Parts: sequence; C-alpha cells; structure tokens
Amino acid sequence: SLQCGIVGLPNVGKSTLFNAISTGKAEAANYPFCTIEPNVGVVTVPDERLDILTELVKPQKVIPTIIEFVDIAGLVKGASQGAGLGNKFLANIREVDAIVHVVRCFQDENVVHVEGRVDPVFDKEIIDIELQLKDLESIEKKIQRTEKGARAGDAKAKAELEWLKKYKETLEAGKNARSLQIDEETKEAVIGDLQLLTAKPVLYVANVDEGSMLTGNEYSEKLKEAVKHEGADVIVLCAAIESQISEIDDPEEHAMFLSEYGLQESGLSKLIKASYALLNLITYFTAGVKEVRAWTIIKGWKAPQAAGVIHSDFEKGFIRAEVIKIADYEQYKTEAGVKEVGKMAVEGKEYVVADGDIMHFRFNV
Ligand code: GDP
Repeated sequence: SLQCGIVGLPNVGKSTLFNAISTGKAEAANYPFCTIEPNVGVVTVPDERLDILTELVKPQKVIPTIIEFVDIAGLVKGASQGAGLGNKFLANIREVDAIVHVVRCFQDENVVHVEGRVDPVFDKEIIDIELQLKDLESIEKKIQRTEKGARAGDAKAKAELEWLKKYKETLEAGKNARSLQIDEETKEAVIGDLQLLTAKPVLYVANVDEGSMLTGNEYSEKLKEAVKHEGADVIVLCAAIESQISEIDDPEEHAMFLSEYGLQESGLSKLIKASYALLNLITYFTAGVKEVRAWTIIKGWKAPQAAGVIHSDFEKGFIRAEVIKIADYEQYKTEAGVKEVGKMAVEGKEYVVADGDIMHFRFNV
C-alpha cells in the first residue's frame, strides 16, 4: 500500500503523533502484505460509507481500507550535507509517496526548541531547504547527462534541458519543485525518474497546544498563510491529546471524549482522510453477507484495473461490472431492491470507477 512519511524538526511532536497512529493500528491479519517495521504505522481509513453499508448488509466481516505512515525522525539543519545521519533520512523520504510535515505551533518552556524559539514558518523552511538542496543535486546530475544529448542535436534532450534548468532556478530560489507550473506528461518525462523530494505531494500538521485545538492559534495561522501558494492542506491538531484519544478503544467512550473537547472528529481521523486524498486515492466497495470491504484505487482507474486490486484473475478475465451508487443502496436497502428499480448500472472495460461505487465484477476464469 501507499506510504506517507512524517517529517519535521526534532521536538515538534512527530513521535507523539506517530504513537497515536500506531495505537489505532489496523488488525494485521487482514492485511498480510503490509510492511511490519517499527517505524511504520498501518491505520485503517475511517469511512462513514462503510458504516452505512455494514448497517444495511450486516455482513460477517467488515474490512476497511488502510494507509501506512512512516516515522522519518532525525531531519536537522545540514541534513543534506550529512548532518545527523541526514542522508539516510533523506533516502527514506525518497521512498514515500507523500509527505506529512509536522510543524510545532505550541509554546512549552519544558520542551526545548532546537532553534530556540517557536516559529513554524522558519521551521518549515529549514526542512524545505534541506530537501531542496538534495533535489538540486539530483537535477544538476541530470542536467549534465542531458547536456550531452542536447549538444549532439537531440531535440527531445534540448526540450528536457530547458525544463531541467527551470527546475534548477526554482530550487535555487528556495522554492519547492512542486511549485513549478508544468503539465503532468512533461513532468513525468523530465523528472519522473528522479523521485524529487520537494515534488512529492505534501500536507502540513500544525501541532498546537490543547487550548487551540478547535480554533488554531497565531502560529498555525502564520503557517497557513505561508503555505497558501502551495495549495497544501494544513491540519490543526494537538498531538498530545490525539495520543490520549487513540488509547480509547470503546467507541462510546471515544465519542464522549471527543465531545468533551468539542471535537466532531479526531485530528487523527482528519489527517488520515486528508492523506488519502493527497495520495489521489479513492475507495470502492464490495458488499456481500460474508464480507463488506473497502478497496483502495487511484483516481481515474478503469473497472478492470480496479478489479485487479482484488485479484489479478479479475482483471485478466474481466467481462463487466455491476455498479451501484451508495445513495441508491441506502434508499432501496438491498441489491435486489436497487436492481428492481433499474438503478444498477452494467459497465464495461472503459468505465472509470467513481469514489464510493459498490462494485460487483463478472469475469471469466
Ligand atoms: P519529535 O522529536 O518531533 O518526535 O517530538 P516528540 O513527539 O518526541 O515531542 C517532543 C516533546 O514535545 C515531548 O516532550 C512531547 O511530550 C511534547 N509534545 C508533543 N506534542 C505536544 C503538544 O501538542 N503539546 C505540548 N505542550 N507538548 C507536546
């Protein structure tokens, strides 16, 4: 499954947040292919639609979809030059699909700040600069390789070189690679092989004090303002409280704890959902009395590819898919009921699966 890497300066609350994630972890038996490593937390993705389906179908088993978080501790100023095992951590970031950047937005005299004061925008920039320096190395190497072809008159190499130089300028100006305006296809051709750290999708976590969980504070506001142009989400939460919430197993107690704090939903739940969206992931469901299950696919996938997530035979032998929209299932209560009113669609190979579709695949074996 896809992974989000948690990064940030020391003492901003990464471990606290990661512990909260790991406490609410998924039942491993259902996900035999997950990475089991100490710095990887596997969590189920909360989904109200799965609850609705469960209520209607009353299956023997319910399996939510999952997402993995990797704790990438140890990024410090100078990491790109190897400080504090810097290169190892930067290599870890290269492997993840998206970045969750935790920023300290709480005051606490007992918790030392590595730079001596709370300044989320400056903190974020320290991390950004390390990642940008690493990306600059990658870009410069590729420029050298591409220049040979361009000099020999290769038109494709020439065009690529132009873009690579734009990336270089962007990074040298202290901006992240993701901020360069470029269409997806060209981007894939120019930097697809580089796994640039600052080209990965990002979301920010403003770790605030307990009293600012609902409202945010001056620090989280500054952070929001500073990342506006990146179009990135900022999730405001209090890691210390999230860690307490995650300890509560009983659903009723859990809900009570949240309402005591005036929260509709835990910050962790918000973070998981936002990460899922950030990765461009959507969910479809299969619903039977034996099992109601959520499946993860990438937005834009067609029915056969989506079927392949269940089993490769489903993709190879794909004939058609029967598709029910969740609202229709809710209204007519059963598959038979939906069918009767003609609301079940029969779709072919070209059907692009939509978020929330309830799928039934027909295939040849
Ligand atoms: P990391 O180095 O980024 O992994 O940071 P930690 O999670 O180890 O947190 C560093 C210190 O900050 C610990 O003493 C935590 O208890 C404290 N801390 C973490 N989150 C919060 C928070 O939301 N509020 C306050 N006041 N302290 C926090």
